[in-house]
Amino acid sequence: MDEKMSDMNGPMYGSHRECFHCGAPSSSFIRNHVARAIQCVNCRAMIEERASSLIEHKSLSQSEEILCVVTPDFVTEHVLPNDLENDPYITRNFITAFRNLVPVMDPVYFPSSRTFSGELVEMERIIGDAVYSGYVGYNGRALRTAPGSMPLNSTSSASAATAGDTRHTIVAYFLISDAAMELNIPNSVVELAVYIFRRVLGSLVMRNRPVETLAAASLICAIERAKHRKDVIRHRDVESILSKLPDWKDVCLSMNENSKDVEKYLILVNQKLQKGKAKPSSTLLSMATSMGIKLKLPETIQERARSMLTRIIELGVCSRRNAVSICAGALFLSAQTDDRVKRTQSEVAKCTGTSEVTLRKVCREIIDRMEDIEAASDKNGRLYDDVKGDGESRTVVETKDKRQRKISGKENSEDRALSKRNEKSKGIKRKATVEVSKGITKSARSERIEGQSLLEDPYLTVLLAASAFHKHRNEMLPPLDLIVNANSSEDKKFPQKFTPIELLLSVPPPPSPPKQNTSNT
Ligand SMILES: [Zn+2]
Repeated sequence: MDEKMSDMNGPMYGSHRECFHCGAPSSSFIRNHVARAIQCVNCRAMIEERASSLIEHKSLSQSEEILCVVTPDFVTEHVLPNDLENDPYITRNFITAFRNLVPVMDPVYFPSSRTFSGELVEMERIIGDAVYSGYVGYNGRALRTAPGSMPLNSTSSASAATAGDTRHTIVAYFLISDAAMELNIPNSVVELAVYIFRRVLGSLVMRNRPVETLAAASLICAIERAKHRKDVIRHRDVESILSKLPDWKDVCLSMNENSKDVEKYLILVNQKLQKGKAKPSSTLLSMATSMGIKLKLPETIQERARSMLTRIIELGVCSRRNAVSICAGALFLSAQTDDRVKRTQSEVAKCTGTSEVTLRKVCREIIDRMEDIEAASDKNGRLYDDVKGDGESRTVVETKDKRQRKISGKENSEDRALSKRNEKSKGIKRKATVEVSKGITKSARSERIEGQSLLEDPYLTVLLAASAFHKHRNEMLPPLDLIVNANSSEDKKFPQKFTPIELLLSVPPPPSPPKQNTSNT
């Protein structure tokens, strides 16, 4: 044993010379005194478990008793007959001794220590907290959760799920580790898979959902992540381990799952693992307020910055920036709109505690998405300028036209979609616009919204424009539906194929009453 110990760099813990998960030498093992386990520092896996015990050894001991015999001088002649020949006991004053050997099994105790497989303690490490925090009770229902043991963000209804979650976690752990054993997947991937499973479980109701499929999806997700993340597999020969990782279809086969179902759950898992968008936290808005007060900005500007912030967070703009710099950017840009309260970059940076460089970057990010931010926040056109960084300046001028379109955003998008969809219609529309005055285009547009499905047809668009044109002039005109029908059916009243100009001419001029009167008389 001493020779063995001297080979190692340090004391030898347990019976293994190297970690069988990551190949680290036993010098990187530590003794976990609480769990009496031996753990690899490199990959955190539990190698084996120790149990001290008192070994009882029963040894045969013989106790020797000396039995002395002394014959009395006087009794023998009365008790024993004298005719016994050569009887040594008859001899007077005979002294002798017998040796009495008593064989006894005596227990001997040795303090000892055993090591055994670390599978159990490894399971405890990975899912232990799930098991201990939840009560796996009758029918999977928690009895009553102590207020302290509930996670901070859970509601009362969520406490009932804890017990179920525990069962699901245990089931998933065994499913995943079985499949991993079969497919030779490293332990650290199993750990990640269980972690993913629990992450998804935290925000998913498992009622009527198969745990097995979610477990399979978690394992596949973990394998894929292990391929791209450097920190999952900690092995000396990462490349060979990575090349041996199984295909996801193999995992489905091994876990006996339908690959289509697994695919569905993979999408779900990926959705759940995505970083959630931050809610517009009151702290961010209050931070903006306090910063605004510090900068001595008027309330209107502060309000503008706050509404901008709300949208920024909703849209996930500047998601990489910290709260302070986002606040500073929003305040700076809001202040730019009013010459009286304009602040310089250095002023804002100094007051809010950000660097000017960061401020410029944040501002640029906000300005890049300004159209989206502005679209919902408010309808006032603004001028954003004076963001000069790295020698370039950007000016976002919202023209009146742009604003106008933004107010009726829906209409605008339809306009765009239409014009994109049909280049041909564009030309026709332009023709129509030549004929029809500005006011009419406006009313035509409002007509169009009513008959959305008609927008596909460029001719009908023009028809509607023409209809609006006549309405504008308070002239007699065929009703809208008639015009529409005219284009689709064989109505005699209108030529089947017509140009916009023809159409305009085809509408009969209204009868003018004064003229008729003169002709009659
Ligand atoms: Zn290891």
